[in-house]
Amino acid sequence: MSKTVAAFPDTFPADIPALLAKLRETYGSGRTRPVAWRREQLQGLIRLFDEREQELADALASDLGKNPLESYVTELSLVRAEAEHALKHLDKWTRSRRVPVPPGLLPASARTEPQPLGVVLIIGPWNYPVQLVLAPLVGALAAGNAAVLKPSELAPATSAALADLLPRYVDPDAVAVVQGGQETSTALLKEQFDSIFFTGGERVGRIVLQAAAEHLTPVTLELGGKSPAVVLDGNWAVVARRLVFGKLLNAGQTCVAPDYVLVTKEAAPALKKHLVRAVAEQFGKDPSRSKDLGRIVNEQHWERLVGLLESGTILSGGHSDRGSLYLEPTILTDVAPDSPVMQEEIFGPVLPIIEVEDLDEAMKFIGSRPVPLAAYLYSNSAAHRKAFEEGVRAGSISHNASTVQLAVPGLPFGGAGASGTGAYHGKYTFDTFSQLRPVFTKGTLVDTLRFAYPPYTGLKKRVLRRLL
Ligand code: NAD
Repeated sequence: MSKTVAAFPDTFPADIPALLAKLRETYGSGRTRPVAWRREQLQGLIRLFDEREQELADALASDLGKNPLESYVTELSLVRAEAEHALKHLDKWTRSRRVPVPPGLLPASARTEPQPLGVVLIIGPWNYPVQLVLAPLVGALAAGNAAVLKPSELAPATSAALADLLPRYVDPDAVAVVQGGQETSTALLKEQFDSIFFTGGERVGRIVLQAAAEHLTPVTLELGGKSPAVVLDGNWAVVARRLVFGKLLNAGQTCVAPDYVLVTKEAAPALKKHLVRAVAEQFGKDPSRSKDLGRIVNEQHWERLVGLLESGTILSGGHSDRGSLYLEPTILTDVAPDSPVMQEEIFGPVLPIIEVEDLDEAMKFIGSRPVPLAAYLYSNSAAHRKAFEEGVRAGSISHNASTVQLAVPGLPFGGAGASGTGAYHGKYTFDTFSQLRPVFTKGTLVDTLRFAYPPYTGLKKRVLRRLL
């Protein structure tokens, strides 16, 4: 796969303070606060997708070999829908809300008012390089913030496209795209932001959290992990298709992809047969010829993934090509729980299958490992689903479907424990980038609070005890 060299220059770390000063000035001027400004930004983002779909899809194809339809479904249409949703609900979200005042404090009024946080930093990974910086941006702008975006240097064409296009569609004095790798990120993290929204791996997540601690900056961490899929029963053809779809989207480089399968011994033969069939159904007998299967992001990840194939017996797949960064969808059986493929997040088209006795054993297995971003159960039994919901801790739970749960804007998307902290999508993104500020108001004509002031006489005691 030949990668387009980024035509848009990286940001010099030395230029970051001046760039931030400009954003702070914009935010300080109050320009980002009116709902009309926020509306314009969201409309700008929608126009970006309407007018520049081709350029963005080309950049994604160059970085990740994504089929344009997959880019549309999993990146462009998803962020566009988020912007539409925010636009539709903006008046409601930004409204202040009255809160009842207890009798002892009357007459008075109390209300909550969502306030922007200020200048926020959004750092994205390479796997969904449009969606994972622009979906947070939707909420940041809807909430009235200025924002710095740092897309991943491992998706250079997309990063360059965003740096080039975004300033033409949103207020360039309030949104800046900073391009670059670790050095640039490090320079950014030295600066003081009012919120940091980070999507990426656990290792860098720790670095971000430590940097944020210096300035006591609130942080949202959208991390990864090994999301399990437990398979008990169901229509095997459908179960297999859904697992394969969720796993092989973006060639398995999806944070909520089912990482591994825990299947009962009883169900294993049928599942395995149908999984092999489903891969062929979706990508043909030779997936290297399919235009619908993405490629591995770089040689380092390709090598890591090829190494993982030794962790079990190859049931199907196993072919690879370094030159084109191709890795055939591979199903592994006879996988030991302590083998390399079961230690780290796979993040590629490799699906290990481990057999268990029953749901209980599967839940114990999941519970003995770090909390995953998602947990999937395939079963038609309501009792099993209830037991799974009660017994499994995960960022999200989805029954009989994998990966698609994140397309519901009404559902918060985020991790728990090791898979992250905080959540977004829909109103939750707006909330993430807002402070719900309480405002309390009293008049001074009559001092009804005087019963609370010392000295605490017997009369005051009687009045206060009656009122409170
Ligand atoms: P990563 O953590 O390596 O990089 C993410 C970002 O951090 C990039 O922009 C990178 O430039 C920056 N970065 C790298 N080193 C840095 C440093 N030392 N200091 C500061 N910033 C640094 O992640 P990745 O490889 O791009 O993405 C893959 C990971 O992201 C996987 O673990 C995946 O599960 C996770 N992920 C999570 C979600 C989610 O929504 N929860 C979505 C997609 C990916």
